[in-house]
Amino acid sequence: MFDIIVIGAGPAGSAAATCAARQGHKVALLDKAKFPRNKLCGGLFTERSRTYYTEIFGQEFDLSHAVTRTDFAFWHQGRELAVLRDVPPLHLTMRLDLDARLFQHALHAGAQDFTGRPIAQITDNSVIFRDGETLTAAILIGADGVNSIIARHLFGSPFDKNTIGFGLEIEAPNGGRPDGNQPLRIDLGAANWGYGWSFPKCQSTTIGIGGLHAENPDMKARFSAYLSTLGIDAEQVRVKGHYLPFGAFRKTPGRGHILLAGDAAGLVDPITGEGIAFAMKSGQLAAQAACDALKSDQPDMAITRYQSALTDLHRNLRIARRLRRIIFAPRWQKIFVTTFRRSGTVRLQYMRLLAGEIEYPELARSVLARLPHYILNIFRRSP
Ligand SMILES: Cc1cc2nc3c(=O)[nH]c(=O)nc-3n(C[C@H](O)[C@H](O)[C@H](O)COP(=O)(O)OP(=O)(O)OC[C@H]3O[C@@H](n4cnc5c(N)ncnc54)[C@H](O)[C@@H]3O)c2cc1C
Repeated sequence: MFDIIVIGAGPAGSAAATCAARQGHKVALLDKAKFPRNKLCGGLFTERSRTYYTEIFGQEFDLSHAVTRTDFAFWHQGRELAVLRDVPPLHLTMRLDLDARLFQHALHAGAQDFTGRPIAQITDNSVIFRDGETLTAAILIGADGVNSIIARHLFGSPFDKNTIGFGLEIEAPNGGRPDGNQPLRIDLGAANWGYGWSFPKCQSTTIGIGGLHAENPDMKARFSAYLSTLGIDAEQVRVKGHYLPFGAFRKTPGRGHILLAGDAAGLVDPITGEGIAFAMKSGQLAAQAACDALKSDQPDMAITRYQSALTDLHRNLRIARRLRRIIFAPRWQKIFVTTFRRSGTVRLQYMRLLAGEIEYPELARSVLARLPHYILNIFRRSP
């Protein structure tokens, strides 16, 4: 019998388990995988992630495992739009290392390790492993990613096929000789309603594309085309894919004493695809809601507390989803690209957003203030 069972030990689950265990609760941390384990991801760890990490785990993020870059290049359909120098730092991690470290924090905080144990069945208050052992708890936190079995248990399916995103990635080896001058690269338009990325790291460069699944029936072909623009033959590399809840968050992330955090709750930025920061943050908020509900002896009130704690994050994601139409919708993209190429302010605001210095309302104000000017110019120039 535990106070809280956390299912999934990625960034959301490890953050939740750390916070709850630190408050003296008996916490079980479950994962079907043994750690270290990999997770398909660009591994971009923003300053927003770094701030949340310090707040949640109570120490500075050790940068010795990461590559830090301050140069960022934007491309659009094979054309360089802008190279931004000296932007707020962006850290590139390998999820194998990052998640293992987060998991260790949770164990040090006192969570009990139930990793590497496949789950056979979930009920409202218990988890039954395939070997028959059963754990029970007053509160469950589902942090088991985009294919969440907890979300399936609550809502019948883990995500909506019409709104989900999808990403493809490769690790291109660099022989342990990273090119220090190679900036991070984003390619707008490499996928429909999404983009491509090339993130140089210590041992390899992580290259991928991602976008709305329903808008990219030919995602594999698009990826091959993108790779060939970077001089890579898609036939020679191992391509992996993974769903990404690209802004499709659940308005009510759970029910009663069962809470969902991170990808299981759909908490990914619908424009940048950033999810690690929001996974850690929502894990922390879910744990706090759970602890408060236990303290007041009302475990079923946990969802009300959690949903209220998520108000700001949900509001930001809602604004981002609206702004996404201007950035990614085919009929707007030309105007957005022109605005982005010409306006240093919009570019700077975008980088400040990634760094967690501003939130979407401010970025939206910047973009919307400049759009009319560029729309007029485009009309003036068209024959
Ligand atoms: C291609 C791609 C690139 C991305 N790039 C970035 C990026 O550069 N930066 C960024 O911030 N975000 C990125 N993201 C998003 C980011 O990877 C996720 O938002 C983040 O991993 C969410 O963390 P989480 O803890 O919610 O889930 P996860 O990291 O998916 O962890 C879930 C855990 O639950 C476990 N689990 C799953 N099912 C079960 C089960 N049935 N039983 C027990 N355990 C289970 C898994 O083993 C896993 O350990 C990317 C995503 C994709 C797909």
